[in-house]
Amino acid sequence: MQSCNDKNCPIHGGLKIRGAIMEGVVVSNKPKNTVIIERSYLRFIPKYERYERRKTRVSAHKPACMNIEIGDKVKIGECRKISKTKSFVVIEKIGEKN
Ligand SMILES: [Zn+2]
Repeated sequence: MQSCNDKNCPIHGGLKIRGAIMEGVVVSNKPKNTVIIERSYLRFIPKYERYERRKTRVSAHKPACMNIEIGDKVKIGECRKISKTKSFVVIEKIGEKN
């Protein structure tokens, strides 16, 4: 992996990861240095005794050294708030778009 001088990079910068860690799929990389991650989960509905599929979106900081495209699976970790909507950072890419 290449080096970078992004101070909000968990590997090369001083950003500390603490709190939640989760995995998701990248659905947008339009905003600068940011990716939007979508995570789907199943929620049980007692009345119908079935699960419904739900999803949430979180925006995460994309360090300058990471090359991430839409459809990639990534692991994100909670860190201090980077901007109004960002408090997660991409730690690693775990899967390419297939
Ligand atoms: Zn870096």
